Amino acid sequence: MKAEHPGERFLTVLLSPQGRMFDQKRAEELSAEQRRIILLCGHYETIDERVIGELIEEELSIGDYVLTGGELAALVVIDANARLLPGVLGTRNRPTGIRSATDCSDHPHYTRPAEFRGMRVPEVLLGGNHAEIEKWRRRESLRATLMKRPDLLATADLSDEDREILEELRMSCKMQSEKCKLQS
Ligand code: SAM
Repeated sequence: MKAEHPGERFLTVLLSPQGRMFDQKRAEELSAEQRRIILLCGHYETIDERVIGELIEEELSIGDYVLTGGELAALVVIDANARLLPGVLGTRNRPTGIRSATDCSDHPHYTRPAEFRGMRVPEVLLGGNHAEIEKWRRRESLRATLMKRPDLLATADLSDEDREILEELRMSCKMQSEKCKLQS
Protein backbone atom coordinates (compact mmCIF):
# COMPACT_ATOMS: atom_id res chain seq x y z
CA MET A 1 0.00 0.00 0.00
CA LYS A 2 1.37 3.47 -0.89
CA ALA A 3 1.48 6.40 1.58
CA GLU A 4 -1.97 6.97 2.93
CA HIS A 5 -3.19 8.92 5.89
CA PRO A 6 -6.60 8.53 7.53
CA GLY A 7 -9.04 10.59 5.49
CA GLU A 8 -6.36 11.89 3.14
CA ARG A 9 -4.63 10.50 0.08
CA PHE A 10 -1.16 11.34 -1.17
CA LEU A 11 0.86 10.89 -4.30
CA THR A 12 4.40 10.19 -3.09
CA VAL A 13 7.17 11.06 -5.54
CA LEU A 14 10.89 10.42 -5.16
CA LEU A 15 13.25 12.78 -6.96
CA SER A 16 15.83 10.51 -8.52
CA PRO A 17 18.25 10.57 -11.46
CA GLN A 18 16.84 7.15 -12.40
CA GLY A 19 13.26 8.42 -12.56
CA ARG A 20 11.01 9.20 -15.49
CA MET A 21 12.05 12.49 -17.11
CA PHE A 22 10.02 15.39 -15.71
CA ASP A 23 8.59 17.44 -18.57
CA GLN A 24 5.79 19.91 -19.28
CA LYS A 25 3.28 17.13 -19.88
CA ARG A 26 3.99 15.64 -16.44
CA ALA A 27 3.85 19.15 -14.89
CA GLU A 28 0.38 19.60 -16.38
CA GLU A 29 -0.75 16.20 -15.14
CA LEU A 30 0.57 16.91 -11.64
CA SER A 31 -1.09 20.33 -11.53
CA ALA A 32 -4.44 18.55 -12.11
CA GLU A 33 -3.70 15.91 -9.44
CA GLN A 34 -6.44 15.74 -6.80
CA ARG A 35 -4.24 14.17 -4.13
CA ARG A 36 -1.70 16.04 -2.05
CA ILE A 37 1.78 15.52 -3.44
CA ILE A 38 4.73 14.56 -1.24
CA LEU A 39 8.15 15.07 -2.82
CA LEU A 40 10.95 13.01 -1.24
CA CYS A 41 14.55 14.08 -1.73
CA GLY A 42 17.58 11.89 -1.19
CA HIS A 43 20.95 13.28 -0.12
CA TYR A 44 24.46 11.88 -0.83
CA GLU A 45 23.18 8.41 -1.66
CA THR A 46 19.55 7.75 -2.32
CA ILE A 47 17.03 6.53 0.29
CA ASP A 48 16.56 3.01 1.68
CA GLU A 49 15.13 0.66 -0.94
CA ARG A 50 12.45 -0.56 1.53
CA VAL A 51 11.14 3.01 1.87
CA ILE A 52 11.06 3.29 -1.91
CA GLY A 53 9.15 -0.01 -2.17
CA GLU A 54 6.66 0.92 0.55
CA LEU A 55 6.04 4.62 -0.02
CA ILE A 56 7.04 5.73 -3.48
CA GLU A 57 4.55 5.66 -6.31
CA GLU A 58 6.70 7.42 -8.86
CA GLU A 59 10.31 8.47 -9.42
CA LEU A 60 11.00 11.71 -11.29
CA SER A 61 14.28 12.96 -12.74
CA ILE A 62 14.85 16.57 -13.83
CA GLY A 63 17.67 15.64 -16.22
CA ASP A 64 20.45 13.22 -17.05
CA TYR A 65 22.93 14.49 -14.47
CA VAL A 66 23.44 13.80 -10.77
CA LEU A 67 22.83 16.43 -8.07
CA THR A 68 24.05 16.20 -4.47
CA GLY A 69 20.51 16.22 -3.17
CA GLY A 70 16.94 16.28 -4.44
CA GLU A 71 15.98 19.69 -2.98
CA LEU A 72 16.68 21.70 -6.13
CA ALA A 73 14.95 19.06 -8.24
CA ALA A 74 11.91 19.30 -5.95
CA LEU A 75 11.88 23.10 -6.36
CA VAL A 76 11.92 22.69 -10.13
CA VAL A 77 8.89 20.37 -9.96
CA ILE A 78 7.08 22.73 -7.54
CA ASP A 79 7.73 25.80 -9.69
CA ALA A 80 6.70 24.17 -12.98
CA ASN A 81 3.46 23.07 -11.30
CA ALA A 82 2.71 26.25 -9.41
CA ARG A 83 2.73 28.44 -12.55
CA LEU A 84 -0.01 26.24 -14.02
CA LEU A 85 -2.35 26.69 -11.07
CA PRO A 86 -5.25 29.14 -11.58
CA GLY A 87 -4.41 32.66 -10.42
CA VAL A 88 -0.65 32.17 -10.05
CA LEU A 89 0.26 34.08 -13.21
CA GLY A 90 -2.86 36.26 -13.25
CA THR A 91 -5.52 36.16 -15.92
CA ARG A 92 -3.55 38.19 -18.49
CA ASN A 93 -0.45 36.01 -18.28
CA ARG A 94 -1.37 32.58 -19.54
CA PRO A 95 1.60 30.20 -19.30
CA THR A 96 3.70 30.22 -22.46
CA GLY A 97 6.62 28.19 -23.72
CA ILE A 98 6.85 24.53 -24.63
CA ARG A 99 3.74 23.07 -23.05
CA SER A 100 3.65 19.57 -24.44
CA ALA A 101 5.37 17.19 -26.81
CA THR A 102 3.22 18.58 -29.63
CA ASP A 103 4.25 22.20 -29.05
CA CYS A 104 6.87 24.49 -30.57
CA SER A 105 9.29 26.86 -28.79
CA ASP A 106 8.01 30.17 -27.49
CA HIS A 107 8.20 33.28 -29.73
CA PRO A 108 10.47 36.21 -28.73
CA HIS A 109 9.10 38.76 -26.26
CA TYR A 110 9.71 42.52 -26.11
CA THR A 111 9.02 45.24 -23.60
CA ARG A 112 9.47 49.04 -23.54
CA PRO A 113 11.14 51.15 -24.84
CA ALA A 114 10.33 50.73 -28.53
CA GLU A 115 14.01 51.37 -29.29
CA PHE A 116 17.00 50.38 -27.14
CA ARG A 117 20.60 51.03 -28.26
CA GLY A 118 19.48 51.18 -31.85
CA MET A 119 17.49 47.94 -31.63
CA ARG A 120 13.82 48.38 -32.45
CA VAL A 121 10.87 46.30 -31.36
CA PRO A 122 9.45 44.74 -34.58
CA GLU A 123 7.03 47.23 -36.15
CA VAL A 124 4.18 44.71 -36.32
CA LEU A 125 4.09 44.52 -32.50
CA LEU A 126 3.64 48.28 -32.22
CA GLY A 127 0.79 48.50 -34.74
CA GLY A 128 -2.03 47.02 -32.62
CA ASN A 129 -3.26 44.68 -35.38
CA HIS A 130 -3.94 41.54 -33.33
CA ALA A 131 -4.33 39.18 -36.29
CA GLU A 132 -0.98 40.31 -37.71
CA ILE A 133 0.64 40.03 -34.27
CA GLU A 134 -0.62 36.43 -33.92
CA LYS A 135 0.75 35.59 -37.40
CA TRP A 136 4.11 37.11 -36.47
CA ARG A 137 4.21 35.17 -33.19
CA ARG A 138 3.52 31.87 -34.92
CA ARG A 139 6.20 32.49 -37.53
CA GLU A 140 8.77 33.46 -34.88
CA SER A 141 7.82 30.49 -32.76
CA LEU A 142 8.46 28.22 -35.75
CA ARG A 143 11.73 30.02 -36.47
CA ALA A 144 12.88 29.57 -32.83
CA THR A 145 11.97 25.88 -32.95
CA LEU A 146 13.87 25.39 -36.21
CA MET A 147 16.96 27.17 -34.85
CA LYS A 148 17.02 26.03 -31.24
CA ARG A 149 14.93 22.85 -30.85
CA PRO A 150 14.46 21.23 -34.28
CA ASP A 151 13.80 17.90 -32.47
CA LEU A 152 10.39 19.28 -31.40
CA LEU A 153 9.25 19.54 -35.03
CA ALA A 154 8.97 15.75 -35.28
CA THR A 155 6.03 15.74 -32.82
CA ALA A 156 4.79 19.34 -33.09
CA ASP A 157 1.16 19.96 -34.02
CA LEU A 158 1.70 21.66 -37.41
CA SER A 159 -0.89 23.05 -39.83
CA ASP A 160 -0.35 23.19 -43.61
CA GLU A 161 0.40 26.90 -43.22
CA ASP A 162 3.02 26.10 -40.56
CA ARG A 163 4.69 23.64 -42.93
CA GLU A 164 4.82 26.28 -45.68
CA ILE A 165 6.37 28.79 -43.28
CA LEU A 166 8.94 26.21 -42.17
CA GLU A 167 9.85 25.47 -45.78
CA GLU A 168 10.31 29.21 -46.42
CA LEU A 169 12.44 29.57 -43.28
CA ARG A 170 14.60 26.58 -44.27
CA MET A 171 15.10 28.05 -47.75
CA SER A 172 16.09 31.48 -46.43
CA CYS A 173 18.42 29.82 -43.91
CA LYS A 174 20.06 27.85 -46.72
CA MET A 175 20.41 31.01 -48.85
CA GLN A 176 21.92 32.92 -45.89
CA SER A 177 24.54 30.24 -45.24
CA GLU A 178 25.41 30.10 -48.96
CA LYS A 179 25.85 33.90 -48.93
CA CYS A 180 28.16 33.54 -45.90
CA LYS A 181 30.19 30.85 -47.66
CA LEU A 182 30.58 33.10 -50.75
CA GLN A 183 31.66 36.08 -48.61
CA SER A 184 34.29 34.15 -46.60
N1 SAM B 1 23.50 6.86 -6.36
C1 SAM B 1 22.34 7.68 -6.28
C2 SAM B 1 21.43 7.44 -7.48
O1 SAM B 1 21.95 7.19 -8.57
O2 SAM B 1 20.22 7.60 -7.33
C3 SAM B 1 22.78 9.12 -6.28
C4 SAM B 1 21.99 9.92 -5.39
S1 SAM B 1 22.17 11.67 -5.62
C5 SAM B 1 23.84 11.94 -5.23
C6 SAM B 1 21.31 12.28 -4.21
C7 SAM B 1 19.88 12.64 -4.43
O3 SAM B 1 19.81 13.76 -5.30
C8 SAM B 1 18.99 11.61 -5.06
O4 SAM B 1 18.51 10.68 -4.12
C9 SAM B 1 17.88 12.46 -5.64
O5 SAM B 1 16.89 12.75 -4.66
C10 SAM B 1 18.60 13.73 -6.03
N2 SAM B 1 18.93 13.82 -7.45
C11 SAM B 1 20.17 13.75 -7.99
N3 SAM B 1 20.12 13.92 -9.31
C12 SAM B 1 18.82 14.08 -9.64
C13 SAM B 1 18.14 14.29 -10.86
N4 SAM B 1 18.77 14.35 -12.02
N5 SAM B 1 16.79 14.44 -10.82
C14 SAM B 1 16.13 14.38 -9.64
N6 SAM B 1 16.72 14.18 -8.45
C15 SAM B 1 18.06 14.03 -8.44
